[in-house]
Amino acid sequence: MRKPVIAIDGYSSTGKSSISKIIAQRLGLVHMDTGALYRGITYFAIKNCTDAGGAIDLELLFSKLNEIKLRFEEVESELLLFLNDSDISKEIRSNEVSSQVSLIACQKAVRDFLMEAQRSIASNGGVIMDGRDIGTVVLPDADYKFFLTASLEERTKRRFLELQSMGMESNEDEVRQNLITRDKIDSTREVAPLKQAHDAILIDNSKLTKQETIGLILSYIKEF
Ligand code: C5P
Repeated sequence: MRKPVIAIDGYSSTGKSSISKIIAQRLGLVHMDTGALYRGITYFAIKNCTDAGGAIDLELLFSKLNEIKLRFEEVESELLLFLNDSDISKEIRSNEVSSQVSLIACQKAVRDFLMEAQRSIASNGGVIMDGRDIGTVVLPDADYKFFLTASLEERTKRRFLELQSMGMESNEDEVRQNLITRDKIDSTREVAPLKQAHDAILIDNSKLTKQETIGLILSYIKEF
């Protein structure tokens, strides 16, 4: 029987990626963290496409998109992201990337560039993909769609702890402000804005643990 395609969208730091990763392991699916792809392009732009003042030059980035090869590799059960053979898994979580990624992600050329890779990985089923527009634009025919949300305070706490555990410097105010800004840009952009698909199941996990959220999602998935 064909394995399902599961779309997980929602606000920043609702645990989409870590939850999707565990569900993928439980159900034997491939996991694709699409936020990491947008972060990877942002990292490339910061390194290779800035103007004299240090700002990202979008036209230059668009002209160099075909130089970008992003791929995931599982190493010791961690999903690492490689940009042209360099492991950039840690770099893409930096504040510098977090503060610019939403501006890169609202560019149609960037979204078009990533679309094919996202769709082709899901074409044979057996995928759980997390992002902002998976259930609405990338995989509108997904078998299951979930939309995750949580209070700003809870999300700030989670993201702050995540950065701390990676040994990255940050403070809660900066993290909170980044979440507010990203969510605003992501939900109001013209191309593929962050929004709940009409047929997605809404889960507010402010008061749920990660395991409880996983259990709730799994309770909707029929055996295959
Ligand atoms: O999921 P994560 O927080 O790592 O995503 C980083 C950013 O990438 C988001 O804030 C959003 O701007 C962008 N993104 C997107 N569409 C997706 C996934 C992420 O626009 N499907």
